[in-house]
Amino acid sequence: MSKTPSKTPQAIRGTQDIFGAEAEAFAHVVETFERVRRLYRFRRVEMPVFERTEVFARSLGETTDVVSKEMYSFEDRGGESLTLRPEFTAGIARAYLTNGWRQYAPLKVATHGPLFRYERPQKGRYRQFHQLDAEVIGAAEPQADVELLAMADQLLKELGIADGVTLQLNTLGDGDSREAWRAALVDYFAAHRAELSEDSQDRLERNPLRILDSKDPRDRAFVADAPKIDDFLSGEAQDFFGAVTAGLDAAGVAWAREPSLVRGLDYYRHTAFEFVTDRLGAQGTVIGGGRYDGLMESLGGPATRAVGWAAGIERLAMLVGEAGQIAIDALDVSIAVEDDRAAVAGQRILAQLRRSGLSVDMIASGSPKKRFDKAAKSNARAIVSLNIDNEKVVSGLRGSTELVERIAELIRPIIEAENR
Ligand code: ATP
Ligand code: MG
Repeated sequence: MSKTPSKTPQAIRGTQDIFGAEAEAFAHVVETFERVRRLYRFRRVEMPVFERTEVFARSLGETTDVVSKEMYSFEDRGGESLTLRPEFTAGIARAYLTNGWRQYAPLKVATHGPLFRYERPQKGRYRQFHQLDAEVIGAAEPQADVELLAMADQLLKELGIADGVTLQLNTLGDGDSREAWRAALVDYFAAHRAELSEDSQDRLERNPLRILDSKDPRDRAFVADAPKIDDFLSGEAQDFFGAVTAGLDAAGVAWAREPSLVRGLDYYRHTAFEFVTDRLGAQGTVIGGGRYDGLMESLGGPATRAVGWAAGIERLAMLVGEAGQIAIDALDVSIAVEDDRAAVAGQRILAQLRRSGLSVDMIASGSPKKRFDKAAKSNARAIVSLNIDNEKVVSGLRGSTELVERIAELIRPIIEAENR
């Protein structure tokens, strides 16, 4: 009887199995973020991967691309509509309200993990992707915006990728400024309606700010002369933005004003920003964020001022990879067991060296004659070879002097005990 050959299931489109240099760069980005967020005293939070659909629908706005086209929503067995998180902020805001985290305000939190959006997969754009996320909740002061931006700036510098990444900064004003600007944009674009792209004609009433960051050349033609937020800013909104830019200057964070920068979600107020590069093709935004003073109220909570950002880990990892910042082969010691009778001694030494904080590989299989060469090829800073001479275990050491001395001291008692 022959078995029916079964096809191996393929990965889901837009997901990635990350391995090798890319996985190391990914881990390096996360580790660097963990270090930097501690310097800025952001507390770690772990958030659910799914939430009730309304958490996102109410926070982000029904008319946004994310809610109207990109969410992975499904009914669970209890008939409840759930959604795989397309972003962190809404879930963190929900948690802030449901857990009474107000008592910690201003609350600085950081997290990272997978997000899900039904988008057209391409370089730097996936259906499961990963973000670093940082939020300051319950903070009305421009100092919070400055602190977050300084943290993002330091992260890029510590990753060695700050060159060629620009902080583009804008203000969307307070609720009233934003509304007045929005109305002026609708008037302005309505006069050119027929000449706009289909998408933008559609956006005109729903989400006119989005026309400003359309990439379609038919829209771009009208963006330069579109009404500017600066003409609609209240005195208060102007002062707020002035304080943010002065704070950035004081912190030594370079920025560029980008008056047509808007963000895709409804909840943004005042500060809006993106860190962008031209080194990643069309997917050039590596970090995006801003103030979301209106969000808590849309979730039924009290007015709570907050600001945050999210960074695409895959995009940062690509920049890190290009900059050659990752040395995967940082191996301290390679042990070559050249005689199988020395295998137990090898295991003891391997355990001892690793416990002492060294990274160690051991080569104890395959042809014994080839093991030393394999160890030599591993690029380790030191090689320990183990042999049997006169029924006794003998070791050979070579490599950088300081390390070899340290290893000699660590393994001497083990070899003596073996030979007793
Ligand atoms: P974009 O304009 O590239 O679609 P966005 O405005 O939708 O980005 P945000 O929601 O602000 O993105 O998310 C913050 C960051 O997360 C982005 O700057 C990007 O680095 C990353 N990101 C967003 N969507 C994806 C995706 N589908 N795949 C990979 N990374 C993503
Ligand atoms: Mg998007």
